[in-house]
Amino acid sequence: MNVLVINAGSSSLKFQLLDVDTREVYAKGNCERIGIDGSFVGYESCVADGKQTLEVDLPDHKTAVKHVFDIVKATGKDFVGIGHRVVQGGWYFPESKVVTDESLGWVREVAPLAPLHNYAEADVIQICRELFPEIGNVIVADTSFHYNIPERAWRYALPRDVVDKLHIRKYGAHGTSHRYIWRATKEFLGDDVHKLVSCHLGSGASLAGITDGKDMDTTMGLTPLDGLIMGTRCGTIDPATVVYLQREGGYSVDDVDTMMNKQSGLLALSAISSDSRDIEQAADNGDEFCAMAIEMFAYRTAQLIMEMAQANEGMDTIAFSAGIGENSARMRAEVIKKLAWMGVCIDDEKNAVRSDEVRDISGANSSVRVLVVPTNEEYMIALDVAELLG
Ligand code: ADP
Repeated sequence: MNVLVINAGSSSLKFQLLDVDTREVYAKGNCERIGIDGSFVGYESCVADGKQTLEVDLPDHKTAVKHVFDIVKATGKDFVGIGHRVVQGGWYFPESKVVTDESLGWVREVAPLAPLHNYAEADVIQICRELFPEIGNVIVADTSFHYNIPERAWRYALPRDVVDKLHIRKYGAHGTSHRYIWRATKEFLGDDVHKLVSCHLGSGASLAGITDGKDMDTTMGLTPLDGLIMGTRCGTIDPATVVYLQREGGYSVDDVDTMMNKQSGLLALSAISSDSRDIEQAADNGDEFCAMAIEMFAYRTAQLIMEMAQANEGMDTIAFSAGIGENSARMRAEVIKKLAWMGVCIDDEKNAVRSDEVRDISGANSSVRVLVVPTNEEYMIALDVAELLG
């Protein structure tokens, strides 16, 4: 059964056509720089040789969707429906839902919690409905997996009338990835996994504590700014810093928002880049800021792994995933080194292996199993679509 998965951003639109039974991908790509000069569609397809680039004008998302459908149509594969990744599901999406006027309205209603993403995603869903009314659409929210974490984990210790009125709570993000990481870990370990700490370490980064498939806590909060140090986001800092920056530093609300989301994290610490590859290279060449950026990223990750272990009341497995977690042997080693006091260790040779497969990199006698689990959010989204529309 084939499904088209769409992941729309404010100026990009990623897509993938895949078979949920065989996991075969027939077409995938990205429409980039939508509404900006120099737009193009980069893609691969089962009927084209190698990577293709269409240098086309993409003035809006509607034009991008039309190109995606042309590429998908050329494969000759039918599909059962379209799965849309939605960043913020708010209080409406404890699970994935078929698109109706009502559910699409909910995506817009909760958009103030993720304005850069939800409005564009809602627009793209509407465009798909208008262009192809015969095809069903499903909303898969990145927050769904976290919605039923225990109240002690999601509630903020702020006045009840305020949090109720403004729907303030921990929503988290990367839920679809954490759900996939649990599933892939369970497939790999069978009955040997019960208490997993899932580490999605990409340019955005979050952890989840998962017990027998149920999410217990996660490190992102009301928004994806909380928790770990990320590419350009500061992660958890004293909340009073926000007020202090405005009152004493003279920064506006928007200045602080931009600073914390776009100018902080690894970029600020290293002073050269938000990309951990650049930072690792510079640290090797003696750059002390970069060495400290790696040290701080690893320290915070190890610290929050312990928070998630507490949410699980135990930990038998740690799984590393996403850009940094899957590719940086050095960062995995730095994180695990900090957990040596509790008997966790990895095997350096196994850690150095590069592969697209799930793999066990635990050291002999490690107190906790350590895996690398390549994530696959598109597959998880496609599974939900197959279940709801198949
Ligand atoms: P996102 O989906 O949040 O944009 P990804 O999961 O694609 O992020 O991760 C992107 C990050 O992964 C890059 O910024 C880079 O820091 C990191 N990364 C990718 N490959 C490597 C590598 N070989 N070594 C170290 N870091 C890597």
